[in-house]
Amino acid sequence: MQTILEPSAVQRLCESFRSGGKTIGFVPTMGFLHEGHLSLMRTARAESAVLVVSIFVNPTQFGQGEDFDSYPRDLRGDLIQIERVGGDLVFTPSVGVMYPEGFCSFVEVTELTDVLCGASRPGHFRGVATVVTKLFNLIRPHRAYFGQKDYQQSVVIRRLVADLNFDLKVVVLPTIREPDGLAMSSRNARLTPEQRRAALVLYRSLRHSEERVREGERNAKAICDEMRGMIEAEPLARIDYVALCDPETLKPIDWIEGCTLAALAVRFGSTRLIDNILISLP
Ligand code: AMP
Repeated sequence: MQTILEPSAVQRLCESFRSGGKTIGFVPTMGFLHEGHLSLMRTARAESAVLVVSIFVNPTQFGQGEDFDSYPRDLRGDLIQIERVGGDLVFTPSVGVMYPEGFCSFVEVTELTDVLCGASRPGHFRGVATVVTKLFNLIRPHRAYFGQKDYQQSVVIRRLVADLNFDLKVVVLPTIREPDGLAMSSRNARLTPEQRRAALVLYRSLRHSEERVREGERNAKAICDEMRGMIEAEPLARIDYVALCDPETLKPIDWIEGCTLAALAVRFGSTRLIDNILISLP
């Protein structure tokens, strides 16, 4: 396994894989890896000749006062885990080489980024779309793998790939959860034991929404209110948003008529967690 810090070196090596007829599977991450990341890598490994992973905590997707500086990092541990799943190449650039002095070009996906996390984190998806565009241009993967855990991100990236004619396939894989249901996230490491227990309300409220739909409820607002009630009953939780939306446009819905995205973002102290499920009609 090779670890490369220089964009030009990664570009050269990936180009040589491609011209040698090897398919490239790519998993972009911000590191502090867990089973969610590893599940993407295992699938990418199985489906591609070459597995490329990037580890880059991307400053442009963090707003002022967000947790860029305190985001958990463990490069040595990450490299061991990537080696174990059979990674071929790990790209770990510095902020300085990704955004050198004078950098002033950004990629913006509109509409889909006005809602949910985009509404509460202005500029977040502009940072995501920009860094993903840079990584796609450097690595030119045949397939890029993302988790459903960041559902809105996956929709934004699919749109970006279609709109800007990237010649690659976006693969979105299911959310990996702890045995008690909490979605795995690098940020879980920052929860206190009490917050960790309280955070179980997220998946519980998502499952409740699914149960209510199964029982025949179709009023989205009524279901959202019940979810909010459950989360608000947890003293350590502060809701950012709870929404039922169209899974393609991400627009909030009043009435459930087909497959629906239930999504939420909730803070526990300074740690903001997101989760979602897709609810199909029985
Ligand atoms: P991150 O390091 O948080 O930027 O995540 C890198 C990739 O891993 C993204 O595509 C995430 O959606 C995905 N991911 C993060 N957590 C999970 C999880 N619990 N299950 C599946 N994929 C995940």
